[in-house]
Amino acid sequence: MPLTDETRQRLIAAAQAVRERAYAPYSRYPVGAALLIADGTIVTGCNVENSSYGATVCAERNAVFTAVGQGRRQFAAIAIVTANAGSPCGICRQVLYEFAPDIVVIMADAAGRVRHEGPLRDLLPLGFGPSDLAEA
Ligand SMILES: [Zn+2]
Repeated sequence: MPLTDETRQRLIAAAQAVRERAYAPYSRYPVGAALLIADGTIVTGCNVENSSYGATVCAERNAVFTAVGQGRRQFAAIAIVTANAGSPCGICRQVLYEFAPDIVVIMADAAGRVRHEGPLRDLLPLGFGPSDLAEA
Protein backbone atom coordinates (compact mmCIF):
# COMPACT_ATOMS: atom_id res chain seq x y z
CA MET A 1 0.00 0.00 0.00
CA PRO A 2 1.76 3.19 -1.12
CA LEU A 3 1.69 6.01 1.37
CA THR A 4 0.02 9.23 0.38
CA ASP A 5 1.72 12.50 1.29
CA GLU A 6 -1.22 13.26 3.59
CA THR A 7 -0.90 9.94 5.43
CA ARG A 8 2.87 10.31 5.72
CA GLN A 9 2.45 13.77 7.23
CA ARG A 10 -0.25 12.55 9.61
CA LEU A 11 2.00 9.74 10.81
CA ILE A 12 5.00 11.99 11.30
CA ALA A 13 2.88 14.52 13.19
CA ALA A 14 1.59 11.77 15.48
CA ALA A 15 5.15 10.59 16.15
CA GLN A 16 6.27 14.17 16.85
CA ALA A 17 3.39 14.61 19.31
CA VAL A 18 3.97 11.40 21.27
CA ARG A 19 7.72 12.11 21.34
CA GLU A 20 6.86 15.02 23.65
CA ARG A 21 5.69 12.45 26.21
CA ALA A 22 8.83 10.31 26.09
CA TYR A 23 10.44 9.49 29.42
CA ALA A 24 14.13 9.69 28.57
CA PRO A 25 15.98 11.29 31.50
CA TYR A 26 19.06 9.07 31.02
CA SER A 27 19.71 9.10 27.29
CA ARG A 28 18.06 12.48 26.73
CA TYR A 29 17.07 10.98 23.40
CA PRO A 30 13.28 11.15 23.22
CA VAL A 31 11.70 9.03 20.53
CA GLY A 32 8.18 9.01 19.13
CA ALA A 33 6.76 6.25 16.95
CA ALA A 34 3.48 6.15 15.08
CA LEU A 35 2.22 2.92 13.55
CA LEU A 36 -0.18 3.02 10.64
CA ILE A 37 -2.64 0.14 10.85
CA ALA A 38 -4.03 -1.24 7.60
CA ASP A 39 -7.47 0.21 8.43
CA GLY A 40 -6.01 3.71 8.70
CA THR A 41 -5.84 3.85 12.49
CA ILE A 42 -2.67 5.30 14.02
CA VAL A 43 -1.23 3.82 17.23
CA THR A 44 1.62 5.63 18.96
CA GLY A 45 4.37 4.92 21.46
CA CYS A 46 7.26 6.77 23.08
CA ASN A 47 10.40 5.47 24.71
CA VAL A 48 10.11 4.85 28.44
CA GLU A 49 13.46 4.58 30.19
CA ASN A 50 14.24 3.19 33.61
CA SER A 51 16.92 3.69 36.24
CA SER A 52 17.57 -0.03 35.77
CA TYR A 53 18.60 0.59 32.18
CA GLY A 54 17.71 -2.87 30.91
CA ALA A 55 14.05 -2.25 31.77
CA THR A 56 13.85 0.51 29.16
CA VAL A 57 11.45 -0.02 26.26
CA CYS A 58 11.79 1.74 22.92
CA ALA A 59 9.07 3.86 21.31
CA GLU A 60 8.65 1.47 18.39
CA ARG A 61 8.02 -1.54 20.61
CA ASN A 62 5.65 0.39 22.85
CA ALA A 63 3.61 1.29 19.75
CA VAL A 64 3.59 -2.32 18.51
CA PHE A 65 2.65 -3.77 21.90
CA THR A 66 -0.14 -1.21 22.35
CA ALA A 67 -1.53 -2.04 18.91
CA VAL A 68 -1.41 -5.78 19.56
CA GLY A 69 -3.24 -5.23 22.85
CA GLN A 70 -5.95 -3.46 20.87
CA GLY A 71 -6.28 -6.45 18.55
CA ARG A 72 -4.43 -4.71 15.71
CA ARG A 73 -1.69 -6.62 13.90
CA GLN A 74 -1.91 -5.43 10.30
CA PHE A 75 0.82 -2.81 10.14
CA ALA A 76 1.38 -0.79 6.95
CA ALA A 77 3.95 1.79 8.06
CA ILE A 78 5.74 3.26 11.04
CA ALA A 79 7.11 6.76 11.43
CA ILE A 80 9.91 7.23 13.94
CA VAL A 81 10.86 10.73 15.05
CA THR A 82 14.07 11.54 16.92
CA ALA A 83 16.33 14.59 17.14
CA ASN A 84 18.48 13.32 14.27
CA ALA A 85 16.14 10.97 12.37
CA GLY A 86 17.83 8.00 14.04
CA SER A 87 17.39 4.43 12.93
CA PRO A 88 15.34 1.85 14.86
CA CYS A 89 17.42 -0.53 16.99
CA GLY A 90 17.84 -4.19 16.16
CA ILE A 91 15.36 -5.41 18.77
CA CYS A 92 12.64 -3.15 17.37
CA ARG A 93 13.39 -4.29 13.82
CA GLN A 94 12.90 -7.88 15.00
CA VAL A 95 9.63 -7.07 16.79
CA LEU A 96 8.27 -5.29 13.71
CA TYR A 97 9.34 -8.21 11.50
CA GLU A 98 7.22 -10.60 13.56
CA PHE A 99 4.02 -8.91 12.42
CA ALA A 100 4.94 -6.97 9.30
CA PRO A 101 8.07 -7.92 7.35
CA ASP A 102 6.98 -5.57 4.57
CA ILE A 103 6.14 -2.57 6.74
CA VAL A 104 7.39 0.78 5.46
CA VAL A 105 9.76 2.44 7.92
CA ILE A 106 10.03 6.22 7.92
CA MET A 107 12.78 7.98 9.89
CA ALA A 108 12.29 11.69 10.46
CA ASP A 109 13.93 14.37 12.55
CA ALA A 110 12.23 16.58 15.12
CA ALA A 111 11.20 19.04 12.41
CA GLY A 112 9.57 16.23 10.45
CA ARG A 113 12.21 16.05 7.72
CA VAL A 114 12.38 12.50 6.33
CA ARG A 115 15.86 11.00 6.19
CA HIS A 116 14.85 7.51 5.12
CA GLU A 117 11.75 5.72 3.91
CA GLY A 118 11.76 2.10 2.83
CA PRO A 119 10.71 -1.46 3.60
CA LEU A 120 11.77 -3.14 6.83
CA ARG A 121 13.36 -5.93 4.80
CA ASP A 122 16.05 -3.45 3.74
CA LEU A 123 16.86 -2.85 7.42
CA LEU A 124 16.62 -6.51 8.44
CA PRO A 125 17.68 -8.73 5.55
CA LEU A 126 17.06 -12.47 5.98
CA GLY A 127 15.06 -11.73 9.12
CA PHE A 128 13.96 -14.54 11.41
CA GLY A 129 10.18 -14.80 11.66
CA PRO A 130 7.24 -17.07 12.45
CA SER A 131 7.64 -19.06 9.24
CA ASP A 132 11.10 -20.17 10.37
CA LEU A 133 9.47 -22.11 13.22
CA ALA A 134 6.69 -23.61 11.14
CA GLU A 135 8.68 -26.70 10.10
CA ALA A 136 10.21 -27.40 13.51
ZN1 LIG B 1 14.36 -0.14 19.72
